Amino acid sequence: MSIRTIAGDCLVHTDGRRGRTVRGRVLVVIKPDNTVLVHDVDGYQPVAWLTRPDSVSITRDPLWLVASEGAETLRVEAVGEVAIAEHDATEAGTPVGSCRCGGPLVRSGSAVVCLDCAERFGLPSGASMTDSTCDCGLPRFRVERGGEFELCLDYACDSLLDAVSDRFDHEWDCPNCDGELRILRRGGLIAGCERYPDCDTGFAVPDGTVAGSCECGLTLFETASGTRCLDGTCPDADADAA
Ligand SMILES: [Zn+2]
Ligand SMILES: [Zn+2]
Ligand SMILES: [Zn+2]
Ligand SMILES: [Zn+2]
Repeated sequence: MSIRTIAGDCLVHTDGRRGRTVRGRVLVVIKPDNTVLVHDVDGYQPVAWLTRPDSVSITRDPLWLVASEGAETLRVEAVGEVAIAEHDATEAGTPVGSCRCGGPLVRSGSAVVCLDCAERFGLPSGASMTDSTCDCGLPRFRVERGGEFELCLDYACDSLLDAVSDRFDHEWDCPNCDGELRILRRGGLIAGCERYPDCDTGFAVPDGTVAGSCECGLTLFETASGTRCLDGTCPDADADAA
C-alpha cells in the first residue's frame, strides 16, 4: 500500500457544500482509501478534503487531480512545477516485538502486523502482548478464557480453542439438560451443550478467570468489568456483584 503526495503551487477547487477555489503552495495527501487531504501552512486542519470519495483520478502534464463523492467534487490543478511522489506506507500501531522475518511487529486494533513482510495475526478480544517469545520466534500474547492462557501469535504453534478445550471441555454441566458443555468456536469461543442439536444451550466463554459458582449453579468469572455468570443474562450474578 502507498500514500501519494503532490506538493507545490496549486489551485484547489471544491464544489458542493464547501464550494470555493483557493490557491497556495500546498501538500496534497492521497490515502489508500482514496481520501484526499489538502494541507497548507495554517493550523492542523486540511484547507480542503474529501473523505473516501467514490473515485480519484490523477492526470499528468498538466497535473490534475479530480476526486468525486456524490455531488461533491475536489479538483487540484497544478499552477507551476509540483512534486509528485508515492510512498510505501503501512498502518501504525504500538511496537510489540519482532517478526520471524526480523521486521518490526506492531499492534493495530485487534491484529498484530509485520511492517516488512505484511504477515498479519488476529488477536482474540481482551488479549494483551507479553515479553515472552515462542520457539518459532514470535512474541506471545496473554488472554483470559476461564483461566489465563499464554499463546503464540501463530495458530500453527498454539490454538486458543485447543488450550481452552483442554482445560474446560466437559468441566461445566448444561443447566438445561443432563449433558455437559463443550468448548467450540463460533466466531469467539462458546461453551455449548454436547447434546446439540437436541439442546441448543450455549454461552460465550467470558474474558475472565473462574471465580467460584453462581447461585444458579453455573460458573462465575472475574472479569475486568466485575464478576459475572457464564450465562451473561443470569440475574443471580448481578446480585452477587452488587
Ligand atoms: Zn515479517
Ligand atoms: Zn510460535
Ligand atoms: Zn444441554
Ligand atoms: Zn448464574
